[in-house]
Formats: sequence, C-alpha cells, structure tokens
Amino acid sequence: MSGMLKDDALKGETIIVTGGGTGLGRSMGKYFLELGANLVIASRKMEVLEKAAAELEAETGGKVLPVSCDIRKYDQIENVIAEAEAKFGSISGVLNNAAGNFISPTERLSHRAFDIVIDIVLRGTYNFTLAAGKNWINKKQAGTFLNIVTTYAWTGSGYVVPSACAKAGILSMTRSLASEWAKYNIRSNAIAPGPFPTEGAWKRLFPGEVAEQIDPLKRIPLKRFGEHQELANLAAYLMSDYSAYVNGEVVTIDGGEWVHGAGEFNGLEAVTPEMWDMLEKMRAKK
Ligand code: NAP
Repeated sequence: MSGMLKDDALKGETIIVTGGGTGLGRSMGKYFLELGANLVIASRKMEVLEKAAAELEAETGGKVLPVSCDIRKYDQIENVIAEAEAKFGSISGVLNNAAGNFISPTERLSHRAFDIVIDIVLRGTYNFTLAAGKNWINKKQAGTFLNIVTTYAWTGSGYVVPSACAKAGILSMTRSLASEWAKYNIRSNAIAPGPFPTEGAWKRLFPGEVAEQIDPLKRIPLKRFGEHQELANLAAYLMSDYSAYVNGEVVTIDGGEWVHGAGEFNGLEAVTPEMWDMLEKMRAKK
C-alpha cells in the first residue's frame, strides 16, 4: 500500500498529533511528514515521544517536535501550542487521536474507572479542541480538526461503554463545531476506523483467549484488518486542502465491519451453495 496524495500536499503545514508517539497516531504522523508537514507529537510518556521523534525524523527527513502533555490538563495543552508555535511559527491542524480504553462488563466498573476513560477520551479531546480553536480564532488563522472516533460512536457497544459514550460525544462535537466554527475557517471532520492492529489496542481490547473467542476477522466482510497506510491516506486527505469543502463529515474505514453487524440477514453467509440449492427446490415445490 503506497501513499495516495501528491508529494508536498502538506508542505509548510504544522500538524499536532495527540498520541503521536505510538500506533495509529505515529503512522498518520509519519505520512504527514512524508507529505512535507512539520509534526508535533504530544502525549504523557516523553521517552516514547523522543524515541519516535528521532526515528520519524530519520525515516522521513522531516521535523518533529515531541512535547510531553496529559490532555486532561488544559495548561499542558496550552504549553504544547506555545512550544509548537515557538518552533514552527503557526499550527494548521490538530489530529485528536489520543485515547484510552479497556474491555469490561459495565457493572464491574467503578465510577472512577468510568471517569478515567471519559477524562482521557472526551475531556482530553474537547480540551485540545477548545485551546487550539480559541488560539486560531484569536489569531484569525484557519485550522483543521480531525478527530479519531470509532464505528461504535453511533451504534454504541457493550463492554466498552465509557469509550462508546466518550467517542459519541466527540462525534457530536465534530459536527457541532463544523457548523459553528466554519465562519472562522476552521473545519472539523472525523474518521471512524474499524480494527487496525496496534500494540496498544490489541493488548487492551483483544487480550489472550478473548482474541480466540471473538476473532475480529470473522466480522469483517473484506476478511482482513486495515493497513496503517490506508488510514494515513484518508487522514492526510482530510487534513489537506484537497478536502477544503469537506466539513462535518465522519468517514468510516472498517472493511464493512459495522454494516455487516447491522444487517439482519448478513449471517446467511454461512449458508452453503448446497443448502441454497435445497432451499430453491423446496420453494419450487410449493
Ligand atoms: P495506542 O497506540 O495505544 O494510542 C493511544 C495513544 O494515546 C498513546 O500514544 C498514548 O500515549 C496516548 N494517550 C493516552 N492517554 C493520554 C493522555 N491522558 N494524554 C495524552 N496522551 C494520551 O492505540 P491506537 O490503536 O493507535 O489508537 C489510536 C486512536 O485510534 C484512538 O483514538 C483509538 O480509539 C482509535 N481507534 C483505534 C482502533 C484500532 O483498531 N487500533 C480502532 C478504532 C479506533 P501516552 O501513554 O504516552 O500518553
């Protein structure tokens, strides 16, 4: 899988990626660099960020600024924005990608456990959005938000209920601000990925025997997981001026997983050609 956009599609842009030191954030950030952007990666673990920044610079020849930040803390986000502007001048886009999640029957969760996920995912994302949005509005600069949600942001899902609540909130914020802040030339879009293998997601969501029990591949009509470059292509498009008229959209990239789960008769895939022959004969007899 290769990159989709023209070389230099993000040249001169500066993009902040929360959670950009690992997993999908790192892959999307890498492609932004390949397309000419400056990259700011922000999360809690500075040693992870510094290692990722050095590797990404070596792999792409681009410039990466790692800044330690807990997105639950508004003042730390203001610091990321200040450091990014001090190094690169101005910020053109924010990819709200950082998140936390784990599987559990909801009745087993303490209210504190619920708080933790909501605080990282929803509070962290609206904190970053508010700080970056106010900064752009005050400076009369255009900007682009891209928020990573999940397909269960609109269907809901058991066993990840705090995450589902938080992602649904982000989806609503994406659409709300797409309307309210368009007058400031600020666009807001979202991506809803299905399963894309990352160390973080696989460890938390499909640990040990759970993976065997609910083999996520079985639910995906395309019978494969997503490739990071496929997601990076979509993210770069939504960050770039090629999507200048796309605002308030959420794009699903899941190999058809959620519609497969939603369609009442999709389970009939299990019916063999021989069984269909028999059913046809039975219908013909009536
Ligand atoms: P990941 O590698 O575990 O990424 C999560 C990132 O969030 C980490 O870099 C982590 O860095 C950061 N983070 C967590 N808490 C934070 C906090 N309080 N402040 C700042 N940063 C924080 O997982 P991933 O699979 O790449 O997931 C990335 C995004 O894709 C998430 O929004 C996830 O919901 C979404 N998604 C993933 C999949 C999938 O299949 N992988 C599917 C649907 C949606 P630190 O620990 O250094 O803070």
